[in-house]
Amino acid sequence: MATLLRNGHIPHAFIFTGIDGIGKQTAARAFAMACNCANPQPFKTAWPDLPSPPAVNACGQCRTCRRILADNHPDILHVRPSGNLIRIAAIRELIQRLMLKPYEQGKRVVIIANAHAMNPEAGNALLKVLEEPPENTLLILTAQQTTDLLPTIVSRCQQIRFAPLPRDVLVELIAANEDLTREEALSAANLSGGSYTHALRLIGEGWIPRRTWLAKEVSQLRTQPTVTILALAEKLAARKALLPDTLAWLLSWYRDVIVFPFQPQQVVNSDLQDQIEATAAGVDQQTLIKGMRLIQKALKDLQANANPRLTMEALVLQLAAG
Ligand SMILES: [Zn+2]
Repeated sequence: MATLLRNGHIPHAFIFTGIDGIGKQTAARAFAMACNCANPQPFKTAWPDLPSPPAVNACGQCRTCRRILADNHPDILHVRPSGNLIRIAAIRELIQRLMLKPYEQGKRVVIIANAHAMNPEAGNALLKVLEEPPENTLLILTAQQTTDLLPTIVSRCQQIRFAPLPRDVLVELIAANEDLTREEALSAANLSGGSYTHALRLIGEGWIPRRTWLAKEVSQLRTQPTVTILALAEKLAARKALLPDTLAWLLSWYRDVIVFPFQPQQVVNSDLQDQIEATAAGVDQQTLIKGMRLIQKALKDLQANANPRLTMEALVLQLAAG
């Protein structure tokens, strides 16, 4: 993107694609800043490892930059889903705005976040804008993947793919911005699938203490009476929104117990190594692999709207018996 800016050949529409929470909207805003900054800097980035640096040429300090950062610039237009959808009314409103003259001299930038949320009517209305782009206007769409969009829209945009953040970069970001130890930051990063937003959501939902509790429960599972096991299933099922993350973590735990005897340095939950070691000493590999298959099946069942409590009861009873 920096090269595009330097050369002055900017296409009139982009699609930034990639999973949620890896900086697509931040980059869109940075791009808008870079196009309009009153005091552009020679290209440099504070985070050389990130797939798309958040500071592309913009000073970040001038009045224009600050207004864009605060979502408060009249020529930087945002379209976002309301509820789950971007409806045609929102695109019509955008078209009305684009027919008016820009307020200021710089480049007008339209950022359509989660463009896959456009229903077909909205998509077709936007297509007209892409076919006859208004002068001095740049459109940036963000989406998880281009297959979620009308092919006619995709073909008129230049695609820029955003990769998930590498684990080390994510740990640095979390540790720098949250009041967590490196081990805790690593734990959130491991579960986040490379998404900073997902990692922050986990932390906000109390994931760190929950994981410590989970590790204790699961390492004792095979020695507990049925009534205790069923109570655990009930507790897990009660936090329905957390179940996918809980099961994903359980998978990482089983994986660690399997891997530990052979490659202890490859353990993901490295701060729980003592518990992993103790668990690994008392169970064979076949049982562990069967456990992973059971957890994956539970994840699939829940995605298909199975009853959370029944699913979790069946799962923990089988894991305990394994
Ligand atoms: Zn600036």
